[in-house]
Amino acid sequence: MQLLDGKALSTKIEAEIVNEAKNLKNKTGLVPGLAVILVGQDPASAAYVKMKKKACDRAGFYSVTHEMPNDISQSAIENTIKMMNNNPNIDGILIQLPLPKQIDTTKILELVEPSKDVDGFHPYNVGRLTTGLDGFVPCTPLGVMKLLDEYNIDVKGKNCVVVGASNIVGKPMASLLLNANATVEICHIFTDDLKKHTLNADILFVGVGVINLIKEDMVKDGAIIVDIGINRTDDGKLVGDVDFEKVSKKCSYITPVPGGVGPMTIAMLLSNTLKAAKAHANERE
Ligand code: NAD
Repeated sequence: MQLLDGKALSTKIEAEIVNEAKNLKNKTGLVPGLAVILVGQDPASAAYVKMKKKACDRAGFYSVTHEMPNDISQSAIENTIKMMNNNPNIDGILIQLPLPKQIDTTKILELVEPSKDVDGFHPYNVGRLTTGLDGFVPCTPLGVMKLLDEYNIDVKGKNCVVVGASNIVGKPMASLLLNANATVEICHIFTDDLKKHTLNADILFVGVGVINLIKEDMVKDGAIIVDIGINRTDDGKLVGDVDFEKVSKKCSYITPVPGGVGPMTIAMLLSNTLKAAKAHANERE
């Protein structure tokens, strides 16, 4: 079994991004800028935003976080997004999800200018992804594809099973795999007999949020396992959705949690923000 080391690859990618950002600044004077909206006091959301801000600092990007109270109104968030859409110092806009119940998340995401949609959640970018056109791709599944690529794992013609069908993880993961000519199955909470499906997987992608959902008898010998889940155990340890200890004895490759997909997600956020900054710089030339 070999680990798919997202920590090592993300460090390498970040170093490339630092250089590219320097070149962009030397050529155009522009510094990539990311604006984040963080609503409420959820500790996990706050921790993710802090990690993203730190990554921007490491990369030499400009970043700003708009912290808003949990009882914020729809119009207040919308006005902030409109302001960011019009701010030339901001290349990427990220709305940390989930938003509180009173907020219409779909309307919020649709308001982000597609050229600043570095999370790839706007329907414009979702449409471009599903039709195989260039655009912004959600950071987590994009990071997974980069990680597979680093280990020369070609998904073409492989049976790829994706467990979890959210708009931010499972669905874009499946679209990327299909675009890369994999045979793709998508499972979710209503899937009958999950094991029957996971046993088919040459490559199994799991993004659900349930500790030990995938056990050793659900994985075929030699399969490649990509664990996207992030869960905290009662004693505060970070774990994925896969029973790592037992499954790792059976598979050929596996992502650790932490140190697998998580750092790749952050690296892809930087990469998407740099891509947005370059496009904005070209428009201004
Ligand atoms: P979500 O709650 O929006 O979606 C969960 C999906 O899992 C749904 O499609 C649901 O149908 C499915 N599901 C739930 N229980 C199931 C079960 N028992 N069997 C099969 N399918 C089931 O969650 P999300 O935002 O997509 O996140 C999923 C996981 O990925 C979470 O653990 C989250 O923390 C993690 N995540 C990790 C990263 C990263 O960078 N590694 C990024 C985003 C999300």
